[in-house]
Amino acid sequence: MADKIQEIEEIITKYVQAGEILSTVREEAKDKIKVGASLLNVAEFVEQKTIELGGMPAFPCNISRNEEAAHATPSAGDETIFGKDVVKLDLGVHVDGYIADSAISVDLTGNNQDLVKASEEALYAAIDIVKSGVDTAKLGAVIEDTINGYDLKPIVNLTGHGLAQYMTHTPPSIPNRHIGQGTILNQGDIIAIEPFATDGVGKIADGSWAQIYHMISDRPVRMPAARKLLKELEQYKTLPFAKRWLTSDKLDLSLMQLERSGVITSYPVLQEVSGGLVSQAEHTIIVTDDGCEITTQ
Ligand code: MN
Ligand code: MN
Repeated sequence: MADKIQEIEEIITKYVQAGEILSTVREEAKDKIKVGASLLNVAEFVEQKTIELGGMPAFPCNISRNEEAAHATPSAGDETIFGKDVVKLDLGVHVDGYIADSAISVDLTGNNQDLVKASEEALYAAIDIVKSGVDTAKLGAVIEDTINGYDLKPIVNLTGHGLAQYMTHTPPSIPNRHIGQGTILNQGDIIAIEPFATDGVGKIADGSWAQIYHMISDRPVRMPAARKLLKELEQYKTLPFAKRWLTSDKLDLSLMQLERSGVITSYPVLQEVSGGLVSQAEHTIIVTDDGCEITTQ
């Protein structure tokens, strides 16, 4: 029993450490998001600083702009710069696989402050009512109502989620809209709450490009180059990785082989279907008896 308690405490400590590293990196990265700045520089800063501070990226730094809701990250040698965009910066840090996941939005357009505020306020409205025993449906309701209060819509087919060791998405899902019945939260649950607000219709679909992948099976492959790549991917376990992180040769061919054999799958960029601008705010929290602890504050 004492051993078990100590083990749980050690795990919690790692979640908290990951969150502290993430917060430091996020605040420094935020200042680098400016019109004319390079997306790749920001992503590389985030990932390198994470390692410098003793963590590891839990997934590639996501920099999604305007109608992109999530899963965009620069490619190798990417020369894209920020314009007058609505920018979502979504970061993941892990310590021994225990993950912190948090996102902010930065308005470079100069006239979408309400869009940014809507998702932030919705996030804090949900955090305010979280505690052991609360139904996730209540979080969805308060998120949707808060965003509607700005005459905006939540993205209804994106949700928050649970976290587990080396797993970026586990049950329960945390809805961003009114639903009939959700899941009852328990003390010790580690969850990420992430409202998305939009001035579009409030729905996303897969876009046509992807730079992020993750492993879904360890079945053997025959092509030598693909086998070499598989070896390189072992370090990421079940966590997402970016194409620009990989050094194997014949990379495009190998990635295609692994994807076709069902070893890896891609995360296409998610786009708002009506081309609406999208904002996002996210924190990772630990549910307690009387509220929660925000690890990524
Ligand atoms: Mn995230
Ligand atoms: Mn998340």
